[in-house]
Amino acid sequence: MRPESDIMKEVMERSGQDITKCYQCLKCFVGCPLAPYMEYKPNQVIRMLQYGQTDKILESNTIWLCVSCKTCGVRCPNDIDLMHVMDTLREMSQETKKQYKADKKIVALHEEFVRNVKIWGKLHEATFFMPYMARTLDIIDNAGQGIKLFIRLKLPLIPKKIKHIKEIRKLFKKGYKTKKELANNEN
Ligand code: SF4
Ligand code: SF4
Repeated sequence: MRPESDIMKEVMERSGQDITKCYQCLKCFVGCPLAPYMEYKPNQVIRMLQYGQTDKILESNTIWLCVSCKTCGVRCPNDIDLMHVMDTLREMSQETKKQYKADKKIVALHEEFVRNVKIWGKLHEATFFMPYMARTLDIIDNAGQGIKLFIRLKLPLIPKKIKHIKEIRKLFKKGYKTKKELANNEN
């Protein structure tokens, strides 16, 4: 199938994956550990992209449940690594503000995690959880865990940037290009 829609071309360009090669063998779906919980299964994401039904995908829980385990990419007979496609779709959903709305915890967790790593170069739990809990009011579930970790001295309150934080920030800036290069190197 030739890339029909502009959005499909963009996803292919940004992810470095040739999704025109997909012939719906379902191997990605069968191997995906999160497929039972996804609104659209991995193979359906490809089909919907081919038909330009991007809004539905960007607003679904599918792209946020993908844990980048690469099982789909390993199983695909056409070397389509859906992990990179899902990653691209997550970025696009943030850029277009067409995000999954049914459970705001999923998107908030992702955004605060990325924001925290950009600031410190690694995850600092205390400064990660505070804005996350403020956004989601998910206090009851997490406060108990936080207190236990604090008592066991596993939750440092003062954050510390890693030594090569500038390199991490450069990587974030280059993320688009790096992801494409990474996908090309893997193929
Ligand atoms: S495994 Fe590959 S070819 Fe088969 S449905 Fe999934 S993406 Fe398409
Ligand atoms: S990388 Fe994502 S889509 Fe692929 S098998 Fe893992 S969880 Fe499923």
